Amino acid sequence: MTDQLAEQAAVTKAEIAEGRRAYELDREHVFHSWVAQGPFSPMTVLKTEGSKVWDGEGKEFIDLSSQMVNTNIGHQHPKVIAAIAEQAARLCTIAPAHVNTARSEAARLIAERTPGELNKIFFTNGGADANEHAIRMARLHTGRHKVLSAYRSYHGGTHLAVNVTGDPRRFASDHASDGIVHFRPAYPYRSYFHSSTEAEETERALQHLEETIVLEGPQTIAALILESIPGTAGIYLPPAGYMEGVRELTRKYGIVYIADEVMSGFGRAGEWFAVDTWGVVPDLLTFAKGVNSGYVPLGGVAISPEIFETFRERPYPGGLTYSGHPLACAAAVATINAMEDEQLVSNAKRLGEDIIGPTLREFAQRHPSIGEVRGQGVFWAIELVKNRQTREPMAAYGGSSPEMNEIIAAAKAEGLLPFANFNRIHVVPAMNIDDDLLIEALGRLEKALAVADGFVTG
Ligand code: PLP
Repeated sequence: MTDQLAEQAAVTKAEIAEGRRAYELDREHVFHSWVAQGPFSPMTVLKTEGSKVWDGEGKEFIDLSSQMVNTNIGHQHPKVIAAIAEQAARLCTIAPAHVNTARSEAARLIAERTPGELNKIFFTNGGADANEHAIRMARLHTGRHKVLSAYRSYHGGTHLAVNVTGDPRRFASDHASDGIVHFRPAYPYRSYFHSSTEAEETERALQHLEETIVLEGPQTIAALILESIPGTAGIYLPPAGYMEGVRELTRKYGIVYIADEVMSGFGRAGEWFAVDTWGVVPDLLTFAKGVNSGYVPLGGVAISPEIFETFRERPYPGGLTYSGHPLACAAAVATINAMEDEQLVSNAKRLGEDIIGPTLREFAQRHPSIGEVRGQGVFWAIELVKNRQTREPMAAYGGSSPEMNEIIAAAKAEGLLPFANFNRIHVVPAMNIDDDLLIEALGRLEKALAVADGFVTG
């Protein structure tokens, strides 16, 4: 960076030097998630603000990823930062058995927004442990052990959560013995049921699910866990009638329905929770990420009255030192209040309907590498293919490819941070991204799509 550039940049030369030192220390001492440690070359981030991120050399990026799809209200929201600082000064930590105002208020705000009567909140440190506890509750409530979960899903990285997961991240830790049974989800674009219409997909996927329940023995199945809109697995929206059908089947067979809203919740899908799209009320709903935009780790389970009753007189055998940590809960209170005050949930819906959806669909007309565009709110995926007829993906299921690497590199060269998985690019900005900045980001994305078009073979 020249002296002149450093002067113009949002980060200083001193910060850049600090970032370089941090990078050296990282490579020396930090063990990273999910990757081979040797070749990994992580991006240094020096600063964030709203929907912008600055890397270790001071280059500015528009954040279309919301990091791990968690910064729903953007980076460094001043109200949330202030609430964390205030809470730190007032009551930084306390054992979970004690009442504290931040947790009580967070529980109230969450319970008021969850569907139906899911009015009791158990707090965890993140999404994986929320799912683990939801499954434990379901098993104790029903006295049954098995859990049904969809292929092409992600439910977390801890032991049980990764076994419930239905994508390749499970394989290395798959014990095939935790009572997990995977079923094929409704996924119209790559139908497992040879469906040619959405209605057919709904009918056949539900038939497959019911057959799985019957063949496994309903009396052995405690829970069915399902992402309301599968996130990392592809933001593939359930076809009309599917979610209502899942609710009906779980009710019919006395199976606890756990809606995993860790990624799809708290406004991401243009509703407080994605299940609200279909008016479906689960028995347990798990959340994390957007609840406080990830400013301090927090997750939880919202619990129905029936399941709560199971534990009214009987102790719940589970807990965490940091259950409802005051800093995390104060951040949740400030985040939810900011979402209300700034009308961010309806804004997310508007951004999807007025800007992201129409623009991506327009891209699909111009770019043969786009197989499908799908999403709602600020929760969108572009499925990249080498051939529209055969739908051959730009990277095989479970992996990356030199082509995808080039496309992602092109996006980054344009100053864009996308979220990518296998053959997909996800457009998952903050709910309060400025319209003009979003349009600018999509323009940059289109340049990467032009690179993708170069790999189209048919
Ligand atoms: N469930 C879903 C749908 C997720 O997307 C994730 C994380 O990406 C998790 C659970 C796990 O959450 P955490 O990483 O906070 O444990």
